[in-house]
Formats: sequence, structure tokens, C-alpha cells
Amino acid sequence: MVLSSVLGFPRIGAKRELKKATESYWAGKSSVEDLLKVGKELRAHNWKLQKDAGVDLIASNDFSYYDQILDASLLFNVIPERYQKYSLPQIDTLFAMGRGLQRPATDSTPAVDVPALEMVKWFDSNYHYVRPTFSHSTTFKLNGQKPVDEYLEAKELGIETRPVLIGPVSYLVLGKADKDSLDLEPISLLEKLLPVYAEVLQKLLDAGAKSIQIDEPVLVLDLDEKVKAAFKTAYSVLAEKVPAAKLILATYFGDVRPNLDAVKGLPVAGVHFDFVRVPEQLDAAVEALSAEQILSVGIIDGRNIWKADLNKAVKFVESAIAKVGKERVIVATSSSLLHTPVDLENETKLDAEIKDWFAFATQKLSEVVIVTKAVNGEDVKAELEANAKSISARASSSITNDAAVQKRVAELGEKDTKRASAFAARLEAQKSLNLPLFPTTTIGSFPQTKEIRVQRQKLNKGEITAEQYEKFIEKEIQDAIKFQEEVGLDVYVHGEPERNDMVQYFGEQLKGFAFTQNGWVQSYGSRYVRPPIIVGDVSRPSPMTVKESKYAQSVSPKPMKGMLTGPVTILRWSFPRNDVSQKVQAQQLAFALRDEVNDLEAAGVTVIQVDEPAIREGLPLREGEERSAYVQWAPESFRIATSGVKDSTQIHSHFCYSDLDPAHIKALDADVVSIEFSKKDDSNYIQNFSDYPNHIGLGLFDIHSPRVPPQSEFEKRIADILAVYPKENLWINPDCGLKTRQWDECRKQLTNMVNAAKVFREKY
Ligand code: GLN
Ligand code: ZN
Repeated sequence: MVLSSVLGFPRIGAKRELKKATESYWAGKSSVEDLLKVGKELRAHNWKLQKDAGVDLIASNDFSYYDQILDASLLFNVIPERYQKYSLPQIDTLFAMGRGLQRPATDSTPAVDVPALEMVKWFDSNYHYVRPTFSHSTTFKLNGQKPVDEYLEAKELGIETRPVLIGPVSYLVLGKADKDSLDLEPISLLEKLLPVYAEVLQKLLDAGAKSIQIDEPVLVLDLDEKVKAAFKTAYSVLAEKVPAAKLILATYFGDVRPNLDAVKGLPVAGVHFDFVRVPEQLDAAVEALSAEQILSVGIIDGRNIWKADLNKAVKFVESAIAKVGKERVIVATSSSLLHTPVDLENETKLDAEIKDWFAFATQKLSEVVIVTKAVNGEDVKAELEANAKSISARASSSITNDAAVQKRVAELGEKDTKRASAFAARLEAQKSLNLPLFPTTTIGSFPQTKEIRVQRQKLNKGEITAEQYEKFIEKEIQDAIKFQEEVGLDVYVHGEPERNDMVQYFGEQLKGFAFTQNGWVQSYGSRYVRPPIIVGDVSRPSPMTVKESKYAQSVSPKPMKGMLTGPVTILRWSFPRNDVSQKVQAQQLAFALRDEVNDLEAAGVTVIQVDEPAIREGLPLREGEERSAYVQWAPESFRIATSGVKDSTQIHSHFCYSDLDPAHIKALDADVVSIEFSKKDDSNYIQNFSDYPNHIGLGLFDIHSPRVPPQSEFEKRIADILAVYPKENLWINPDCGLKTRQWDECRKQLTNMVNAAKVFREKY
């Protein structure tokens, strides 16, 4: 009989219980016992939910109070000395490593002041993990036994689970050397780490675990020979030490084919593949397995919110069965369901037509089970028919088939992707802006004060009228402009007081988007996001930002930047469609934004910034066709959005959150780019953009911090940059928008920044 399995379930709770419990604990408002109790309840709830849904192989140890990779670091004692030294309770060490800890001394405890470990994106998802950080003094040893405890906890509830661990190779490869041990290559620690893994596996076996899921997602990355060889070492050692452990090696988020030689012949019981992402890898996967090994068929998408096409999924699993036989197949989610919202049932405001197209984590459990039942010959005819109906309803809906939008994309030509003139001519035309040398500006947002949030809530609750709200926003804009006058900036912004979020604000005004009330997904720690969902062909029914920009421009004669979020960023920070390529979705968004850019220009806005902070994170994980295609279509969609303007209109773009590839930035052909820069401690980074042909501003202060750098510090930074960049090209600006700051903080920060710019203006 074919078994069903789920690689992991969201741990945040359908009502964000985990966030509330952890934040209340951090704030000192509840005890550690309260927190642990909530954790236990969530685990029990999730296991029971899966059991009731009929899932055979349910994950345990997929729960975490912060991050599952950080849990592994704690388990293996990979705790840098700067955290060890405080001898905090285990859970506080976990949080200190995850988010830093600053605490004054008390009678019984010394003061604590330690920053967080580095946090990085989990593959190409919007989840972030805490990076394991190794040094020469790292001593692996078992620190507690969380996976065993949670396995037993489930067992006590009468639920047999399959514990999940991050695999040893991925664990090391995803980590890095600590500051004091930069010559250390994490993978060289493998042999020291393995005995501890063996110990955990043995304990799990002793506790009764029948099989163990061991995640090796790095198998979808470009790996060097050393890392590839490490798989053989790792799994031979584990098989030798714990021969009875039945390991299912799990890969996800991509194509394993380029690394199949590393998987072939490993002494594991089975291998899991993500066939949602890469159905084409079935034959190669089958080929790589021995006649005894299990093929775990990841066929229900763990990364998206769409109902699966169950009939298609059944066919796919049947084709796998035809190749390896029933006894060797497991039906599974493509990855952990961590990346999907918890339960669609909590959505009461979604349009019924659209709601019928969705499956959140809870609904995906049934999907896995239905497919399993179908291939086992059980009667699920009614379920499959209902599914087929909603799949075809979606395919033929007018929401997913807007002929005008499709026509516009189909007719996309070179003229839509290129400014009328090259940069030199544009620069000449933009002299009409009358900007001084070293123009100063900000990135867009000004403090989102409590008052702004209160007014927005009042509007949403109907406690004030749209006119009252509009008047309030106008007043905010006036204040922001007055502030900028006082500080002495050159190019103004309106401050974005009307925006709840840089993606949601646009999504709400575009046709083709849907929003959830409770569709939260963990981004990191207690930070969750609620991404908009692209449900259909995207278009712009009416202008989105013109009213505010026009108003702002009417208040002051200074150039006022119109402010938009770019097509790639809107796409990346939403749940995309799975029936249309990302490229086409970006193009649709780009045309909608092009209309907005052109309308802004027509309204007299002469400088327009289109932010693309997410452009780097969309880059496919490995080299090859998909990546080459992305570096074409992503900048192209930006150019579609921005190339419809006159030479004299100055196009800006802005990037943050990542190490950018200068080549990608160049391809946007923006007149001016601003890049987050102030926190880079690598002095070579300054060189990175030095051959950027157009104008550029490297962020001069950290907008996440209230710290006010003295004017001398700004001068030093500017001087360093001027040593590398031509003075005519340089803009003076912060790292990013100032929405999280207080007004008095940014007044001081910007005053020092502007004064420093003036010093250099005098000099040259
Ligand atoms: N214009 C946006 C702001 O200033 C940019 C935000 C971002 O890049 N994350 O808030
Ligand atoms: Zn930014």
C-alpha cells in the first residue's frame, strides 16, 4: 500500500498563537512555562489535525520556537562562545542567537549584550534561517534531545510520527565560519559532527522511530566536488553506526539531477524529490535509486496556496508506480508546508469564486490523502470530480483570462523596453531639474507614526470618511515637505503616509490580486508576512499614486519624486500564479506600472523612483537556463515600466536587503540608483558599482537604527566613496526609507548628512 506523507506543518498556529506567546515572553509579560505550554498545544493540535486528515507519515521536530536550523545548532552545541558565556537557560540562548539580547544586570544576573547571528534567506523562499556559525573551538556534543522529546510527546498522544532532521551536509554547507575562524571550511567539520548525528539517530531508534526524514536541500544547489563527496562519507558513517535507522533523504525546491551522482548508492532507505518544481526529474530519480529504495513523490505544492490538480497528480504518481512498483512509492508534499498559510477556513471575506481555487496547509493535507487513496484504488471519485471542476473553473474564469492584458503582453516589442535616448542625452535633458552637485534625497517613506496607523484603522472601520482621511494624508504630506525644506534636501518625497506596505498598497489597487485576513506565513522568528495573491491577469483600473504625488508637487517647487514599487518586487513578495510563468506575470505588472509612470509624468512629476529591492532574491538558485532567462526578463520588466517617459524625466531605482550583482543593476538603465550600503563591513564592496555608468547613491546611514552618525562620519564616508566614484555621478542618501524611525531621529540624521554634502559641494 502506498503511504501519504507531509514533510512538515506550519508551526505558527492558525491564529498566530506562537507569535503572541513568544513576544509576550520576550516582553516579560509571561513565563517560560506559559510559552512552552503554547508550543506543546500547537504541536498536539498539528499532529492531531494531520492524523485526522488521514496522513500516514506525520513529521515531528518540525516545530520550533524560532527556527529549525537554529534548533539544530543548539542541539549540536554549535553555540559561539559569546552566547555560551552567559549560561542562559536553553531557550534564552536560542532567542539570543536568533535575535540578540540586551538586558541590564539584576541582583542575580549580569548584564547581557550580544547581537544576533546572521540571518539568511532559506533557498528561494521568503523564510529566513539563522546561519550556523562555526569556529575552530566548536565542539559538537548533544545538548538536550529535542527531536526525541517531540517524537515521544506525539507518541504519548497516540500519534506515530516521522522525526525530521536537517541533514549533516546541508547543515554544514548552510553555515559559515565565525569571525575568529575565517579560514575554517564548515564542510571540513563533517567527521567531527557525524558521531553526534549518530547519537541522535540511535536515540530516536531506541524511542521507537520507524523512519526518519533527513533533509538535504542543498542537493538542489550547484555543489563542488568536495561537498558532493561529503554525502557518501556522511551516510556511510551513519549507516555503519546506526544500521537500523531507516532514513528518507529529502530534497526540495529544485532539480537534483546535476547532483544525482552524489545521491546514487547512498545507504538510505529512500529519497524524496520535489516533482512540483521539476516533474522532468522523475526518470533520472528512478534511475538513481536501487531496487530497494523508496521514492517519495513530492506532488502537492508546499510553497503555494493553489489547489492541486489532483487528477494530474494521481496520474503522475501512477507513472512513478509504473516505474518502481507500489511498495516503493510514498505520496508527499513537495516540501514542508511551512511556507503556506495555515487554514483557508479562516478566510471569510474571500470572493467565493476565488476561494474555491485555494488550498492552504490544512487543505493540502486532504489533497495528499486523496491522491494516496486514489492510487491505492480507494473510491475518491467524488473528490476528484469536485477538484476537476474547480481546476477547470479557474482555467476558464474571466479573472485568469483578460484578453486585453494578454494582448498587450503578446504584442510587447523592443520599443516598450527602451528609453527614447541613451543616458548621456537624458542627462542633458534632465539639467532642467537644476540639481546641485551631490544632490541629496531620501528613499521614500518618512516615519509611519502611531497617528497614521490610527487614522488608517479608523478609515477601515468606517469611523472617518474618505474625505477626512484624505485631508489627514494631505496634512502629513505638507508636514513632510516642510520637514525636508528645513533639513535642506534637494529632491523631495511625499513620505508615503498613505501606504500600509510597499506591495500590498499596489496589490489592493490592481485588478488580478486577492488578499487574505489570516494568510500569515513565517518570515523569520516571530515575524510573519501575509502576502497578496496574484489570482488573475493584472491590470490597473485607475491611477494608484497620482493624487498624492500631484498634491505633493503642488505644495513645493522642488522636484518631488513619484514613488512606485517595481514589477519584480511586487511579484516576489506575493504568492504568484502557477498557471502562468513568472515572466509573464512580471510583464503584466510592468505594463500596469508603465501606465502609472506615464500618468505621473503627465501630472507634472519629473522624477520617478521605482523600487526593486527584491530583484536579487528572484535570481534562480543555480546557474543555467532559468537563471540566464531571469537576468533578461527581470530587468526588462523594470524597463517596460519605466521607458515610456521623456528624456527629461529622471527615473530612479532603489535596492536593499541583498548583495547585488552590479550587472543586473546596469541592465535596468535607471538614471539614478540608490543602494543600501552603510552596514557593509567589507571594504571591497565599495568598488562593486564603480563602473555603474549612470548616477548612484550609496546609502550613508543605517535606517534601522536610531543612531545619529556625526557629520564628520558622513564626511568620511563620502570621501571614501569619492575616492572610487566620479563626483558628477554621486547622490547623497540614506540606506532605505525612514518609516521605522522617529521624526526627531531622522531630523538629526538627515541634517548631518545634508551638511556633509554641503561641505563637499564647497570643496569642488
Ligand atoms: N520607497 C520605499 C520606502 O522608502 C522603499 C522600501 C524598501 O526598499 N524596502 O519605504
Ligand atoms: Zn530599501
